[in-house]
Amino acid sequence: MRILVVEDEARVASFLAGGLEGAGYVAEVVSTGREALARLRQGEPYDLVLLDVGLPDLDGFAVLAEVRKTDTRTPIIMLTARGDVPSRVRGLDLGADDYLPKPFDFDELLARIRAQLRHARQPQAAVLECGDLRLDLKTRKATRGGKEHDLTSREFALLEFLMRHEGQVLSRSQILSGVWGYGFDPQSNVVDVYVRYLRGKLDRPGEPSLIEAVRGGGYRLRVPEEPQVAGKAEESCDSA
Ligand code: CA
Repeated sequence: MRILVVEDEARVASFLAGGLEGAGYVAEVVSTGREALARLRQGEPYDLVLLDVGLPDLDGFAVLAEVRKTDTRTPIIMLTARGDVPSRVRGLDLGADDYLPKPFDFDELLARIRAQLRHARQPQAAVLECGDLRLDLKTRKATRGGKEHDLTSREFALLEFLMRHEGQVLSRSQILSGVWGYGFDPQSNVVDVYVRYLRGKLDRPGEPSLIEAVRGGGYRLRVPEEPQVAGKAEESCDSA
C-alpha cells in the first residue's frame, strides 16, 4: 500500500512517514502542491493521499480540487490546523474523504486510513449496501428493506455513485461528471431532477430522505443510524 504524504513541515512529514512505514505502508513525501499534482498525474496510482492544507504554493484545497477533476477514487484525507467547521465543509465539498485537524493522535490517523482503504476496496464488490438499501451490480436490482424498486439505467448509475461515496458530500458538478460524464452542461438541473426521481422511488413517507441536500449545494447519501438504538428501545419496551 503506497501513501503519498503532502506536507511542507519537515518535522511533521518525517514523523508521518516514519509512523506509516512502521505500520507497514510505503510512504512517499512531497512538500509542495505542485509536486503532489505531478506525482499524482504520473506513474502508479497511490492507494491513499494525506494532504496538508497549508502548503507554500497551491494550498491543499486547490490541490484537492485539481485532483478531483480527473480522479474521484483515490482516498484523500486532509490534515490541517484549521479544524473549524467551514474549512471542514469546504474540504469535504471539494471531494476529500476525511478531514483530520492537527494535532491528531497517530492511532486515530491509522484507524482513519484503514477505514478509507476498506472503503476504497468496496468498488469490486458485486453488491453495495447501505443500511437496508441494497444495490446488486450484476442483476442491476435495487431493493430497500427487501422491496424491489425498478430504476432506469441513469437512476441506477446515480444511486451507485452516491452509494460508493456513502456519507460523503458530493457537489452537483462531481455528480454530473461522475454519472453523466464530462462536458455535460454544468448549468443543467439534471442532478436535482434525478435525485427527485430516486427519492420518489426509495424514500418512505414520514422518514427523512435517503438523499440529503447539503447546504452550499450538494447531496449526500445518508449513513444509516446505528441499529442498536432501535434494539435498546425494543428492549426497554419488552421490560416495561
Ligand atoms: Ca503546512
